[in-house]
Amino acid sequence: MDFVERPSPNHAPRPDGTVVDILVLHYTELPLRESLDILTDETREGRVSAHYVLAEDGTAYRLVPEERVAWHAGRSHWRGRETLNATSIGIEIVNLHGDRHDYPPAQIAALIELCRGILARHPAIEPRNVVGHSDIAPQRKIDPGRRFPWKTLADAGIGLWPKADGRPLFGEFQPALQRYGYAPPIAVPPREIVKAFQRHFRPARVDGMPDPETRRLLAGLLDRRGEE
Ligand SMILES: [Zn+2]
Repeated sequence: MDFVERPSPNHAPRPDGTVVDILVLHYTELPLRESLDILTDETREGRVSAHYVLAEDGTAYRLVPEERVAWHAGRSHWRGRETLNATSIGIEIVNLHGDRHDYPPAQIAALIELCRGILARHPAIEPRNVVGHSDIAPQRKIDPGRRFPWKTLADAGIGLWPKADGRPLFGEFQPALQRYGYAPPIAVPPREIVKAFQRHFRPARVDGMPDPETRRLLAGLLDRRGEE
């Protein structure tokens, strides 16, 4: 894959012994030019960056080398861990609002190629650890939004998708969500966590209610992990 180099000064060393095992997908909410400017600006308060920015036409910009920490996740939680920047790769996908704007096919094709390369270089990134920003920061973030084609990615071998014929979910919903990876409902309202789950796996209705279909989808994911 070809990259346009657009180095950002906003990065830090990975702590010693770090294994990169999470891939976080974002949307920019801003057009390409502004996104690149912000993600490479070292004068802002609250400096931010990402490893890659993916334009709508599929052009991939490389901002931070994968060996370095980029600053994209913020306060976050996944599978009992926080401060996920240290162990993750972050991709910012140019899209003004992933609940309202479709992702162009050329952009998704490029994203699949980019993700495949990242997964090959970092085999510790399990399918379950390919997440959206809203999965890891459900109280603050909705990106990459309800229009993001998670299933298309899963079909291409990137991320996990529920088994269609999953068994029903036994037991309580919130503990099962936590087993999958979501934050415990302490600092984050439980409903916001359910909404994050639905945004990813059942975007047609994001209401925060653990209805039977939502429960079945979660069971189908845990089933894939052999955990239920
Ligand atoms: Zn984000």
